[in-house]
Amino acid sequence: MPGERLVQVPGGAPDGVSLGHVLTRTDFRVPEHATLDLAGRPVVGTVARGKHLLTRIGDDHTLHTHLKMEGAWHLYRPGTRWRRPTHEARVVLETEPWSAVGFALGVVEVVPRGDEDQVVGHLGPDLLGPDWDPDEAVRRLSETPDRAVADAILDQRNLAGIGNLYKSELCFLAGLHPWTPVAQVSSLDRLVRRAHVVLDANKERVEQTTTGDTRRGRRTWVYRRDKQPCRRCGTPVRVSMQGPDTQERATYWCPTCQPEA
Ligand SMILES: [Zn+2]
Repeated sequence: MPGERLVQVPGGAPDGVSLGHVLTRTDFRVPEHATLDLAGRPVVGTVARGKHLLTRIGDDHTLHTHLKMEGAWHLYRPGTRWRRPTHEARVVLETEPWSAVGFALGVVEVVPRGDEDQVVGHLGPDLLGPDWDPDEAVRRLSETPDRAVADAILDQRNLAGIGNLYKSELCFLAGLHPWTPVAQVSSLDRLVRRAHVVLDANKERVEQTTTGDTRRGRRTWVYRRDKQPCRRCGTPVRVSMQGPDTQERATYWCPTCQPEA
């Protein structure tokens, strides 16, 4: 549709208003910031840390948002009809050329610029960030040698950017049983570098694929393919819940291609 585009994440949303354009209107639809008005200030830019987005506004403010499962930023030309329900909008940032609308965001908070580290400083190196540091990611992963590798790479404190899809897919690509302790992974370095390659290859894609095939039903090796035959060996793919008690997530794997160590 002309006059709008969907911002892909992580990609620096809302980057359409990040070129120094001055905000003409702001609307923070969360109780804490309901009366906050940042109109008149320029959007300096947005940086992504994992799925956290830091939008720097003026000299002093940073808007911290997180997409969680359902969130998204859309960019619209002024006057264009939104593609999601109005009640899902959490933030509206308007400039003359663009309106950026954040829908169903998991986090919306405005913090002093100097406090950015307090909101995302706990995150490991960002797989798609300008400061990506594979050695640091390996170092952090190595600090919990007994932890299951699938859990460890999903933990954003180790490295930021791997979601549940990539967790299962990266274990498959590495031939690793998801419950393999980190200490028994023969090359954490290779695993971490592969994560970077796979995420980087997908950063501009609407539909994420780890197989290289973007057709529906062919995009993943094991993710959401439980009971279906493994694409490599035909063994039925398995699924089980994995993770700390309150944060269990589904893990998919092929018991043949990813044997228990
Ligand atoms: Zn297999």
